Amino acid sequence: MCGGGEMAKKAGWAIAVHGGAGVDPALPSERQERAKRLLRRCLDLGSHALAAGASAIDVVEAVVRELETDPTFNSGRGSALTSEGTVEMEASIMDGQHRRCGAVSGLTTVKNPVSLARLVMDRSPHSYLAFEGAERFARLQGVETVDNEYFITEDNVGMLKLAKEADSILFDYRIPLAESCSKAALGIEPMNGLPLSVYAQETVGCVAVDALGRCAAATSTGGLMNKSPGRVGDSPIVGAGTYACELCAVSCTGEGEAILRATLARDVAALMEYKGLPLCEAVDYAIRVRLDEGKAGLIAVSSLGDVACGFNCTGMFRGYATSDGLLDVAIWD
Ligand code: ASP
Repeated sequence: MCGGGEMAKKAGWAIAVHGGAGVDPALPSERQERAKRLLRRCLDLGSHALAAGASAIDVVEAVVRELETDPTFNSGRGSALTSEGTVEMEASIMDGQHRRCGAVSGLTTVKNPVSLARLVMDRSPHSYLAFEGAERFARLQGVETVDNEYFITEDNVGMLKLAKEADSILFDYRIPLAESCSKAALGIEPMNGLPLSVYAQETVGCVAVDALGRCAAATSTGGLMNKSPGRVGDSPIVGAGTYACELCAVSCTGEGEAILRATLARDVAALMEYKGLPLCEAVDYAIRVRLDEGKAGLIAVSSLGDVACGFNCTGMFRGYATSDGLLDVAIWD
């Protein structure tokens, strides 16, 4: 275990995946099981590809595409909604071998944002495209696009209504609670100013190291529920929500503003690069020292095949698998 998460060590391939930090402690068990089944399916997909010799960068893209296509978490279909009830998605991907990266934000029609981020990295002279420019690039590249309604689920429409009633932007556990959302009024402990039984989907991410020791990371999200149109979080920001280099790959989740302030993903890499810390200690240090309490979490792999995760909030949907047969999917501490 490392910083509230688990760790495995082995030279060889390894993969970790997350479905977001900050989990409702009263999340119904069938929702927990559904999320775990999806994470397990993604680990199987990634593991088989890595065992067959696929590159880390191809694997993280394929796994995040799978997560974007399934509405269980907050990315692609099932994305969190803006205060206007629309979807604005963002994603980033980084190939640690050459420190190449691609990022997109403000997407409204691109079915798989992570793949557009990959195209920005591979086929554009830029690292980051946003809003109309990103949509135009998507059309030039011929990627699959759909109407904005495709991404909007009934669950999220209900969630936005509750968030608006509570005048809250999820994920912030520290907002003052409206009287109507207080523990006394609800009879249960509230979270995010909302009843605990409300389920907020979270961001997805994948990190992998392949058999050749190449690391890659990808993160994709709809952002925060009830966010302002135009708001950009940490997920598309290389160094904040996503980072990969020759030493490690990191994908973060939680309150984007806190992750941005902490340059969380890059800090993990910098602790390894400049301080010589092993992955587990770097993750633990970054979470403990850099991050505001109760805000976020991350998954990480090293080029040596280590896997680590850490979070300082209620829980994080996560799982990992390694070439020597270690496999786990978990939500809580
Ligand atoms: N980090 C994401 C954001 O702030 C949200 C999340 O991880 O759930 O946009």
